[in-house]
Formats: sequence, C-alpha cells, structure tokens
Amino acid sequence: MSLIDFSAEEYEVLSWLSHLMQGSEKGVKIFEVDAKTGEVKLVADPPMKLDRSSLFKILDRLESRGLVKSVFEKKIATCVRCGKGLFQPHLNCPACSSEDIEKVIVHVHNCGASIPETLLSSVKTCPKCGDVLERKDFVNSHGRFVCNSCGEVFEHPEVVSECVSCGFSAKASDMVYLTLRRYTPTESGSLLLEVRSPLRVLLRKLLEEGFKVSENVSLRGVSGATHQISLLAVRVEETRVYEVGYFVDAETLLRFAVKRLDVEKTSIPGALGRIRWIMAGVEFAEAALKTAETFGVEVEVVKVA
Ligand SMILES: [Zn+2]
Ligand SMILES: [Zn+2]
Ligand SMILES: [Zn+2]
Repeated sequence: MSLIDFSAEEYEVLSWLSHLMQGSEKGVKIFEVDAKTGEVKLVADPPMKLDRSSLFKILDRLESRGLVKSVFEKKIATCVRCGKGLFQPHLNCPACSSEDIEKVIVHVHNCGASIPETLLSSVKTCPKCGDVLERKDFVNSHGRFVCNSCGEVFEHPEVVSECVSCGFSAKASDMVYLTLRRYTPTESGSLLLEVRSPLRVLLRKLLEEGFKVSENVSLRGVSGATHQISLLAVRVEETRVYEVGYFVDAETLLRFAVKRLDVEKTSIPGALGRIRWIMAGVEFAEAALKTAETFGVEVEVVKVA
C-alpha cells in the first residue's frame, strides 16, 4: 500500500470517522433523515467543509485502499421534488385512484364472479350468471379491497407516498433512493491514523528535546472562557502552547489566535521563561498562513512519515 499520495482530506475524513465511531461497534451512518423536518442530513459536520458528494468520494477512496470498510444498511426514499424523506402512505383504487376503499371478505361464486360480503344482504342473484345466491355455491372466500367510488374489487391497492414537506405524491417505485451504508475504519486505517498523527509525532519530538509535555490542557482566559489546547510543553527557558491539527485552515488558526490573546502567562500552569504560541500542522491553507502572519502566531510544519 503506497501512502505517499495520502492526502490531508483523506487523513481528516479517516480521523473524523474514527472520532464518530467512539462507543459504537456497528459503524457510522454518515447521514440520516431528521425525524422532524424530513431533511437528509449528515450526522456531523464533515472536516474541511466538504460537501456530501466530496465526502463520499473520499470515503470510497479510503475503502478502495483498505483503510475503511462499509456494509449496506438500507435504502432511504426521498422526495423527487424537494429531496426530503418523510412520507405519509396512501392506498388508492387502481381503477379510479379514489382513496375511499375498504378491505372486505369477498366470496367467489361458482361462475367466477366476486361478490363482496357486504352486498349479500341486498343482492339476491349473481350479477354475472343470474343464479340465486346461496352459500353452498361459493367456491372460495378471501380478503379484497372494494372501492366505494367506482365499485372495483381488487387485491392490491395502489400505494402512493405523499411527501410530508411539500405534498408531492409518488408511487414507491418512482421515488429517489439513497443508499445508506455503515462505515468503519479498518485495522490498517486506525494504525495509519496513529502513525501519521501530527500530535504523536510532535509529542515524541518534544520529549526528545527535553520538554515536559501535557496533553489536552484547559486554560482559563481573561474573558472567563475556558480554552482547550492540544499540548503544553515546558522546559527551563521556555514554554510552548501548541494547537495541533493535520490540515490547518484559517478558522482554526483564528480560533487559536483568539485563545492566545485571551490567556495570560499567569494562567498557564507551570509556565517558565518565554511563552510561545505555536499552531502545528502537516498542511496549512494559504489563508491560514496569512492569518498567522496578521496575528503574529507562529506556525510549525510537522513532518509525518
Ligand atoms: Zn417533497
Ligand atoms: Zn375506484
Ligand atoms: Zn354467478
């Protein structure tokens, strides 16, 4: 498996999936139908603002590389007109489309005529052969639908689903179906995440350089807000506050810059010497580098294997 061209998008999606997996063994359903609005929506915001189709392209690529596996879960029907997925079913007469139908017991006369039970009290002779109707002449009885509008007797009503959102009605076979699959990172996928984790790589490097390192540290800001940071590294002459990502976009950088402005040196536990705030990542968006420059945030490129 060549991973030279393994992209930031692939890493971010794999990491996103792995995060969503937590506490479930069945795999992640990437989207679902909102039970209130009928909207087909992703279970969580995808990384790097990927849209649904790009997300699925990357998942396919990860699957073809053996880093993710998926199993079929079910099909989801969506409205041809508005794309939503909540329906109200209706049963119609196949002859006149009326919904005024009911299920009745129908007796089959020895001539082949079908006579609904409800008619037996009023009809005395068979409408087909003209014989007087007697119970002994019925060869079969079964449940059928009868239309109160046109009198049609039928076994299968026409099933129509009405979209709860926009009111458009369609036969089940005419709707748009989305395939819902469950995705799980494979063992090699999880291993790859670990091996290429910029946080792990940076952590090892800092320890080798003699830093004392704490992970996931909460820092209290002057504003009263609590800020989470990835790594806090301290050694005699300096303290480094690190935020670590794989692909760093401008927003991530901006959030980090805000933390830096809000947190004073005295709020950093065990801080010694000069304080450096460093945004670390494997790849940086152009706009992120500009933002870093504007706010005077240091950036560090982490080289992952
Ligand atoms: Zn609709
Ligand atoms: Zn009818
Ligand atoms: Zn008859």
